[in-house]
Amino acid sequence: MSIKTVGVVGAGTMGNGIAQVCAAAGLAVILQDIGEAQVERGLNTIASSLDRLIKKEKISEDDKQSTLSNIETTTSLEALGMVDIVIEAATENEALKLELFRQLDKLCKADAILASNTSSISLTRIAGVTQRAEQVIGMHFMNPVPMMALVEVIRALQTSDAVYQQVHDLSEFIGKIPVEAKDSPGFVANRILIPMINEAAYVYYEGLASAEGIDEIMKLGMAHPMGPLMLADLIGLDTCYAVIKVLHEGFGDSKYRPCPIWQQMVDAGYLGRKSGRGFYNYAE
Ligand code: NAD
Repeated sequence: MSIKTVGVVGAGTMGNGIAQVCAAAGLAVILQDIGEAQVERGLNTIASSLDRLIKKEKISEDDKQSTLSNIETTTSLEALGMVDIVIEAATENEALKLELFRQLDKLCKADAILASNTSSISLTRIAGVTQRAEQVIGMHFMNPVPMMALVEVIRALQTSDAVYQQVHDLSEFIGKIPVEAKDSPGFVANRILIPMINEAAYVYYEGLASAEGIDEIMKLGMAHPMGPLMLADLIGLDTCYAVIKVLHEGFGDSKYRPCPIWQQMVDAGYLGRKSGRGFYNYAE
């Protein structure tokens, strides 16, 4: 495999997981975020995740140390200048991602692939702000990254077959199963998942059942491993809100209208597990 070095932009829920699985596969990883606190938190999350794998006897202490030794952290985007691929996992915001890709295009080596872990934003539009549109692609990992097998690989309209193949091979190299999807709002996974979560939020907002009740109904009745509101907390309520807005605006179809509770929860700082409170309270 030609890819040996990976830059990960954003050390949050997804970025630290992506860094972990790439480093565990032996790739050299540079994990970048905007501040020291964010990269430190990302690295701590990776260490705890590896400790859990040790407890479950899935990896050894030596595996943990070698994974950690493959990860460098930085707060400077310029540090990603020589990596073979960048996987961007910053906040789900189109303007922010377009600006990041403009910058990455300028500072990364000419043959580097620029991938985004976006949940919903048009890869074709992201590719369009770079001078290397054929080297831009979606690599949509699932949360929690170390546990979930799928990588939805999304081709921008411009993505070359060679780049698609490299990203397909990289996904397999890090132990994931790539599945190809075309570029469209929410792609495949979130086109189906997020409207269900949005409907669960409406059911909660209308007071039809408690959060626990809604989740129990979907777990016991539909054999879902996790209820939709707990899953929303795991994903992040700001991210769920961002994705349903992309679906609503992208298709112009009222069936994707966002539940008003998203805006309220985000305004209150109730972002789910990552902030300690969402539909459930994680403080204790
Ligand atoms: P998060 O809020 O946990 O983390 C986002 C991180 O990006 C933060 O640490 C933030 O400081 C950092 N960031 C913001 N602006 C930045 C910049 N300019 N440069 C570098 N870092 C920056 O969010 P997340 O859940 O990890 O989501 C990241 C991406 O992954 C989003 O595009 C999201 O849609 C996607 N995604 C999320 C999930 C999920 O379940 N949470 C699943 C698949 C994909």
